[in-house]
Amino acid sequence: MTEGRRYLQGRARWIVAALIAWVGCSSGWLFAANDAEELPKVLIVATGGTISGIQDDPNDPTRYRSGSLSAGQIIASVPALENHATIETLQFSNMPSTQIMPADWVRLSRQLSQLLREREDLAGVVVTHGTDRLEETAFFLHLTLRTEKPVVMVGAQRPATHNSADGPANLLAAVRTAAAPQSRDRGVLIVMDERILSARELRKDFPRVGGFASGRIGLVGRDGPQYLYTPSRPHTRHTEFALPASLELPNVDLVFSYSGGLGPRYETPPAGIVVAATGMTCEETLAMQVFARAGIPVVAAFPTGEALRAQRPVEETAPARMLDLCSALAGDPRWEGPWIPPLVAQFLTPQKARILLMLALTRTTDRDELEAIFRRY
Ligand code: ASP
Repeated sequence: MTEGRRYLQGRARWIVAALIAWVGCSSGWLFAANDAEELPKVLIVATGGTISGIQDDPNDPTRYRSGSLSAGQIIASVPALENHATIETLQFSNMPSTQIMPADWVRLSRQLSQLLREREDLAGVVVTHGTDRLEETAFFLHLTLRTEKPVVMVGAQRPATHNSADGPANLLAAVRTAAAPQSRDRGVLIVMDERILSARELRKDFPRVGGFASGRIGLVGRDGPQYLYTPSRPHTRHTEFALPASLELPNVDLVFSYSGGLGPRYETPPAGIVVAATGMTCEETLAMQVFARAGIPVVAAFPTGEALRAQRPVEETAPARMLDLCSALAGDPRWEGPWIPPLVAQFLTPQKARILLMLALTRTTDRDELEAIFRRY
């Protein structure tokens, strides 16, 4: 074979190989296996809720059993997941979120932090959860998880068997958010209706599709998650809160102030009290004074979590304006003694102020330190 023919044959082989590669690439088959290997790994941790609920009667979507389908069954209804991530599942529990207790928060937080530490291959985690207590579990994880990997919570307002279920689209958007590097170190995120919400501001405003709108920091669009804001208060690995060695958290009660309210009475007083209040009656104020003087911190939280009020320093005696206003209670010996105004939750809802107080009390009972914690978080 002449030098020239050998050269031409070599060229022809290259051209054929390049053609095969081009056809293979454009039809997707040649590198399909590699693509699958390169997809980020996302772990779906299922806890229950309406997203895994099934109707008792196919014609009545309002009567259903929350927390019925398994994690595997939920993901089977969303085949598009496999285009965005390699999915693994873990069944943490399967219950309505009203049954999730503070001890479950501790267990979940511990398990997630450990998993994310040990499994370097995981890009992020999605936690499926009922919407009733979503804001509480989310805020607890936001303050205690030790990771910067995305942890995205998701639920549904319609059961999985509804003829227009919102769960599958929510789950797909949540997985895309958890798989994306731009979701790292933003604290615990919640994805509902293609909105990305921050755990600190999240609220269930309305119990129907579209009912989670507070705390939006981004959106999930055609190209995946896009962020508009970054949470500025400390979260996840930037907080000072360690989980208790046991599953037990300090017992903090949450009470509502209302017209004519007398304040709570306890057989065994709690470790702390949060009052959801726009303002308090004289009787409530006095009752709270007694608790505060007994060393039980009292925190006032505006019901919507949107008030910013100055913290007031401890005074020597009840302020004169209070004695004027509460003249019907004049002569009550409980006015005597140092006057300890409630701590102020500032921008936290009462439920979230309760969670912060539970965690804060694992570190300190000092009023000034508690006040600093409420200012910081
Ligand atoms: N009751 C349900 C739950 O919190 C409501 C829901 O998931 O939307 O588990």
